Parts: sequence; structure tokens; C-alpha cells
Amino acid sequence: MPLEPSRTVAELEELRELTGNEDGAQRVAWTETWERAREWLRGKAAETEATETIDAAGNQWFTLAGSSDRALVIGGHIDSVPNGGWLDGCLNVLAGVEVLRRIAADGKPAVTVRLVNWADEEGARFGRSLFGSSAAAGSMADQDELRQLVDAGGVALPDALADHGVDLDRALDANAELDSAAAYLELHIEQGPVLESLGLPLGVVVGTFGVERHRITWRGQAAHAGSTPMDQRRDALAGAAKLALEIRDIARRTGGGAVCTSGNVVCRPGIVTSVVETAEQLLDQRDLNPHRLAAMLAEAKAASERFAGEERIEVEWEKIWSIEPILFDDTLVGFAEEAIAEVAGSTHRLPSGPLHDAAEVSRAGVPTVMLFVQSLRGLSHTKLEDTKKEHLELSVGALDRLASKTLDWVADGGGRPADA
Ligand SMILES: [Zn+2]
Repeated sequence: MPLEPSRTVAELEELRELTGNEDGAQRVAWTETWERAREWLRGKAAETEATETIDAAGNQWFTLAGSSDRALVIGGHIDSVPNGGWLDGCLNVLAGVEVLRRIAADGKPAVTVRLVNWADEEGARFGRSLFGSSAAAGSMADQDELRQLVDAGGVALPDALADHGVDLDRALDANAELDSAAAYLELHIEQGPVLESLGLPLGVVVGTFGVERHRITWRGQAAHAGSTPMDQRRDALAGAAKLALEIRDIARRTGGGAVCTSGNVVCRPGIVTSVVETAEQLLDQRDLNPHRLAAMLAEAKAASERFAGEERIEVEWEKIWSIEPILFDDTLVGFAEEAIAEVAGSTHRLPSGPLHDAAEVSRAGVPTVMLFVQSLRGLSHTKLEDTKKEHLELSVGALDRLASKTLDWVADGGGRPADA
């Protein structure tokens, strides 16, 4: 069966009909609609005669046995956020099915080819993203916290998992699935405006941003808005406001795609007749380079001390969460550039702001790369999410070219484990 990218677009539309409504996609993981989507995918993949297995974390695998057990893995996620788009995650999986069809039609591949539909990438119901891929990667270390998670309807996470045949205590057994993985590929919509602004259909993702997230508490003195002269105030909001503007310059000076966001400031007492006594500010900083990320954090901290001095207030920093940048494999980035050049002419290297399953697989030591296809208006996680059909078709073609190059590379001993 030759590659037919238009079939992928038709199947995406079919899935939208089956699992969406007027508000968008409703394939939230660990729900009936999600299970229906998995059942539907099972039917699509069956044509390739790939063997289906569900691992201990609920990930759905389709395996096309090759002459060698070493495996080329292509991944995606069929789960969506509530009222989600028609492409996020499922494009990856359905493009993967089309590539499997092409490979199966070419005869027994030199190495094993596996398509994985990761379970609960979005974390939409319980707030824990990358569930299945972090279990497979062996990086899931929060089972005690996961046991306590409850959805909006009061259902505990372990019970929801059990309804779909997954035992939380055994989820990490999924780690064995990556033992034979020599390389990992993932296609995804960009979910941002960069490729559209460059007029390019496709780009190569060189890695995922490292993230520094902090809570910054500013402390001044509540005082009457009418009786306190301007030069005698200790206004906590003034510190937060100065920092909110400063981080924009810090990101601009850092360049290279660095971003800083002050996502919220909560003021107390928070009334119109009082100077702000405490301002609790949230800061998110991201960059692809760990040294630049650390420098951005240090700059923001130094600036906050300066502002605290200027305003005669106090400032305190508390880390909420951080993750190192993850860089994808150089060889695979090269293959991805060739693949895009072959189907679309020009290409562009860009980092990914959001985390993806690919980041977990890469952290586990499997050579990894991602392709991004242009998102219209940079929108996702909404029913307005869209990509031009011709670009979707190009993306299937590019994934296929990339899979073909990677398969040859793995067959020649490339990838992990190199000497298996
Ligand atoms: Zn996604």
C-alpha cells in the first residue's frame, strides 16, 4: 500500500465525528470516549497486521515485527483536553498508522517498527501530564501523590485507571517497553505561531525548553490610600509590577527564543482603599540552553532585590517546579531536516515550548526527534485548533521520509542500543 497522506486527513475527520461534539474533541484519558477512540484506532491499525498490546501503564502498542528486535518507535496520543482540537496528539498517531501501512506493504522490515499511543498525555482529568510516557521512560516518581489525586467528580485516579485495566502500582513495568527502542519519532502540531509567521509548513524540533517556575512574595505595609503620602508608602505591588516589566527585557536580551511570563499577581488586602501589603507573583522562565536559563533566573532575582530596595519592601523567592532543557538527537535532527527538505523545500529549527511525550522518551536515553507542522493562528487546546489540509498531508509525507531514513540507520546499527 503506497503512502496516501489524504487518508490520514480523512481519518482525522472520521475521529472528530466519532469522539467530538459542537464544543470540540472529548477524548479525555480514562473515559469511555477515549476508550472508544482506542477501539477505533485498533481497527485502523489491524489492516497492517501489526500486533496490538497494552502495557502496564495503559499505553497502546502496535508492533510490526522486523528481522531484528531493535525497534523504531513512532508515537503520539489520542487523548485530548475537554473541548479540544481535532489534531493535537491524534495527528501523530494517525500519521503513524499511515507510515505503518506503507512499511507493512514493503514487506518485512529490517528492524521492528512500533507505533505507540501514549496514555494520558494531557493530564486533563487529574492534572498529571505525560502519564504513560513517563511510566515507560521510568521517570515517574510521584506514585504516592498520584494515589491522592481525585477528579472534579470525586473519582480517585487509581480507580479510574483500574476501570481501564491499569494498576497504578505496576505502571512502571511499562519501562520494559523501551528496552528494545533504538529511536523515537513524533510528529505534532506546533501549537504556536512561529512556522505560520515564517510561511513554512514544517519545522524540526531541536529540543524542549527547560523551565524554571517560582513564586515571589513581596511584603510591604498596608496603609490608607487617602492619608499616606506617595513618598512614604511601602507598596508590595510596585515590586511585582517592576519585575513583571523587567522580565520582558530579560527574555529579550537573552534572545534565541527565551520566554519569561508573570502569570499572576495576587494582592492583599486587595481593596481599593489600601496600599498593597503583600503581592504574590508567579514567574515562569523557559529556554533551550541550561546556562542561559540559569542566567535568566539569576538576573530576575538580582532585579527583584534592586526593586525591593527601591520600594523599601521585602522579597522572597520559592521554587515551584523546574525541569532541565532536553535536546533531541543530532543525527535524527539531520534526518528530519532532510525529510522536510524533500517534501516541502525549506525547513526551520525550533524549540518546543510545551513538553511532549518525546521529551520523556529522550530523557530515557532513546535518540529522539520531533517534527512540527504549522498551526493556524498558533491555537490549540480549543476547537479552533486547525492546520491547512495540504500541510497535514505534507507532514505525513515528512514523517514517512524520516521513518524511512531512521529505519535504515537503525538497521545499520545506529540508535540505541548501538551494539545489540
Ligand atoms: Zn499533544
